[in-house]
Amino acid sequence: MNIQVLTLFPEVIDSYVNTSIIKRAREKNIVSIESINFRDYADNKHHSVDDTPFGGGAGMVLTPQPVVSALENLDYKNKKVIYLTPKGKTLNQDLASSLSKEPDLILLCGHYEGLDQRVIDHYVDLEVSIGDYVLSGGELGALVMIDAITRLIPGTLTEDSLAEESFSNYLLEYPQYTRPREFEGHAVPDVLLSGNHKNIELYRITESIKLTLSRRKDLIAEGIENKYFSDRIIKLIKQVKKNLL
Ligand code: SAM
Repeated sequence: MNIQVLTLFPEVIDSYVNTSIIKRAREKNIVSIESINFRDYADNKHHSVDDTPFGGGAGMVLTPQPVVSALENLDYKNKKVIYLTPKGKTLNQDLASSLSKEPDLILLCGHYEGLDQRVIDHYVDLEVSIGDYVLSGGELGALVMIDAITRLIPGTLTEDSLAEESFSNYLLEYPQYTRPREFEGHAVPDVLLSGNHKNIELYRITESIKLTLSRRKDLIAEGIENKYFSDRIIKLIKQVKKNLL
């Protein structure tokens, strides 16, 4: 997959994608990530990219020309253009998963009061929000998308680590523990030290169900509606609800 990020702050993007899992995915050519400063495309003397809003009001609005020139230079018609905005569709694991199958993404980061609506109307395929709050720019949103999407591209992580992650199966992941066996008087649950794989699996799935029922009942309801769960999991959910486990 190729991801191109249009931003006024390429250094923010470059710094994060040069670390950890994303860095390794880039080294393995699973994903290529390029940040482009659309200020470089401004055709005015001072490379200005913003102007006051028509109709008045606070702040500045990104002008269409630099963004559109940058998009044209990137052959945007053959790619999926996504604008990061609090007005967009909220990012979740399903959306990240469907976007992970796209060959080419252009992530457009706004700034100031946002982008001239005509660019959104005529050049953007999808508007995405990373949550119900307002950030100063789209860069953190673009990075959240890059991270969530890259993890889901085959080869980035092992199948095992993806399979049990939160949201992958309409359940939140079970609690994880590592050494030492006892920390500040708090012991690791005995079952995890038992070596009995059947009991460990039952403990984990039960904890996962308990956690999801207490924090995100909506996920379980969605899993039931989509007929995702096996009969065994449905039985366990009922038992957990009745406090039998
Ligand atoms: N005036 C806009 C509004 O009220 O909807 C907010 C503009 S915000 C200060 C500047 C830029 O940050 C936006 O153009 C967008 O690219 C980005 N941004 C802010 N909040 C975001 C969010 N929740 N998700 C994705 N991008 C966001």
